[in-house]
Amino acid sequence: MTTHDPLARLIGELQRLPGIGPKTATRLAHHLLKAKEEAARGLAEAIVEVKRTLTHCTTCNSITAVDPCATCTDPQRDRSRICVVEEPFNIQAIERTGEFHGLYHALGGTLSPQRGVGPDQLAIDGLIERLEGVEEVILATNPNVEGEATALFLARVLRPRGVKVSRLAFGLPIGGDIEYIDEVTLARSLSGRRSL
Ligand SMILES: [Zn+2]
Repeated sequence: MTTHDPLARLIGELQRLPGIGPKTATRLAHHLLKAKEEAARGLAEAIVEVKRTLTHCTTCNSITAVDPCATCTDPQRDRSRICVVEEPFNIQAIERTGEFHGLYHALGGTLSPQRGVGPDQLAIDGLIERLEGVEEVILATNPNVEGEATALFLARVLRPRGVKVSRLAFGLPIGGDIEYIDEVTLARSLSGRRSL
């Protein structure tokens, strides 16, 4: 196969994106083929622009146009608390709550022996280097197997360094009904109960 097939190339590139299988890649490629040239060009340019203008903050690993990022340099933020998340985009979710005023640290993934991701592939050393003056590290990794394993690993690494380590509480969804909550969530809500 030496002939260059632009459509096959586009399908191949799309398929490398997370959550995109061969069928979706093919559908998206044909959609782009039918779309107006400006629309396709707009998408291509947006991709090139984020790669050209955005980078990772060398302190917290978030996505930023300036390094260090605006959060890391904001004098109003509480520097005694660091909230650890898996991916930079998780920071926005915590920020939207308006409940956290400390600093962040994005790991860039989770530990996963199956996928060959060990501690060296995550921004863990960078987190340890930031502990001076920090009283609490809040582990906000996802409540799934890999997120839990990562949180447990971090807790083991961080506690001997004299910092308080906490984990997000896993609770019942607001407006939920105990009757219909799965037992894992209900068990976690019980063990994470608080006094009133
Ligand atoms: Zn930063």
